[in-house]
Amino acid sequence: MSTFQAPKGTYDLLPPDSATYLAVREAIAAPLRNSGYGYIETPGFEDVELFARGVGESTDIVTKEMYAFETKGGDRLALRPEGTASVLRAALEANLHKAGNLPVKLWYSGSYYRYERPQKGRYRHFSQVGAEAIGAEDPALDAELIILADQAYRSLGLRNFRILLNSLGDKECRPVYRAALQDFLRGLDLDEDTLRRAEINPLRVLDDKREAVQRQLADAPLLRDHLCDACKAYHEEVRELITAAGVAFEDDPKLVRGLDYYTRTTFEFVHGGLGSQSAVGGGGRYDGLSEMIGGPALPSVGWALGVDRTVLALQAEGVTLDIPAATSVYAVPLGEEARRVLFGVVTELRRAGVAADFSFGGKGLKGAMKNANRSGARFALVAGERDLAEGTAQLKDMESGEQVPVALDAVVSTLRARLA
Ligand code: ATP
Ligand code: MG
Repeated sequence: MSTFQAPKGTYDLLPPDSATYLAVREAIAAPLRNSGYGYIETPGFEDVELFARGVGESTDIVTKEMYAFETKGGDRLALRPEGTASVLRAALEANLHKAGNLPVKLWYSGSYYRYERPQKGRYRHFSQVGAEAIGAEDPALDAELIILADQAYRSLGLRNFRILLNSLGDKECRPVYRAALQDFLRGLDLDEDTLRRAEINPLRVLDDKREAVQRQLADAPLLRDHLCDACKAYHEEVRELITAAGVAFEDDPKLVRGLDYYTRTTFEFVHGGLGSQSAVGGGGRYDGLSEMIGGPALPSVGWALGVDRTVLALQAEGVTLDIPAATSVYAVPLGEEARRVLFGVVTELRRAGVAADFSFGGKGLKGAMKNANRSGARFALVAGERDLAEGTAQLKDMESGEQVPVALDAVVSTLRARLA
């Protein structure tokens, strides 16, 4: 123990568990890479106004959860609470949308920061992998993203997740619905904060997690009944495309999301094994966001999947990922001369692409073999003075226990062949 601990609401990723996190990130990214999405990385902080405008002044993320600060130079910045606003900002800044190839499809992976009340599955520092498809209005694009997220979760072995789907309408039909909902909310017995929210962004009240509020919302008007013909047709096509792909989903007419910028298609991935932090990912269409942050009209759609909660979901289902041991060969030198020779062999193995490690610190045979075992290596390569005199090392198969001498100059080719 040192004097210091990880800050409240954060945790460290340590081996061997950290390998699962990497594998989850990789599994989410793989279908995206395979579908024309290019990798984008943006700074960990941005102008606070980007999030205030992009995510929404009335959202919890902006009003309560943002790490905002002023720099010594007087800039007002915030640690990024989510990815979409930054990615769109970067795409606009680099004029990616003018390169003539819309949609611009991007994926990202990184750390996000929200000042939340920490609990299991809810942290102040967490990881997301996300995807954004910018500049096209096409139901197939919405369907593509939902299908790719489903593919990612399934490739990990997750089964008990559900996809909730809704449409939030567009600038045509949403204002009409908004007014109807507002009328309805004004007649309810709500606390002051919630009434204020009902005035600024009534849709967000539907997302209220409190039982007492939800009970009163039972008869709330639904957007489904207010969608304009264009939104209805669009949504119907998204549903058909996902269905045709064999991806199961549930219509959830009350699904809204914690960010203001969503239009039309909205979806969430929820998992039954996570208690109240049931959302493992979410996303949707955000046709108005570009204009909100000063860009041209660029209808877009995207999602973000939480890495931390996906790992928890895997644990809840008892799924362990098949992660190959990091080390294939573990070299155990006995004596000074062997130390120099085997260190050279290990360097050669590594250069040849074989994952190799070495017993450091001059350990004896017993201690070194214990470490070789712990490393999960398939082979141990042991050499003492007598082996060196014969120009060989002992190659021990850690599974069968079988041990054979191998000429030192044939170690690399032998191991490459046996590991292939
Ligand atoms: P919630 O309703 O649980 O607060 P959210 O709607 O705020 O979730 P999004 O902004 O949609 O979440 O982020 C997408 C995903 O990122 C979530 O589904 C979740 O997996 C993950 N996530 C969001 N906030 C946190 C957090 N504080 N800690 C861990 N993961 C998080
Ligand atoms: Mg949240």
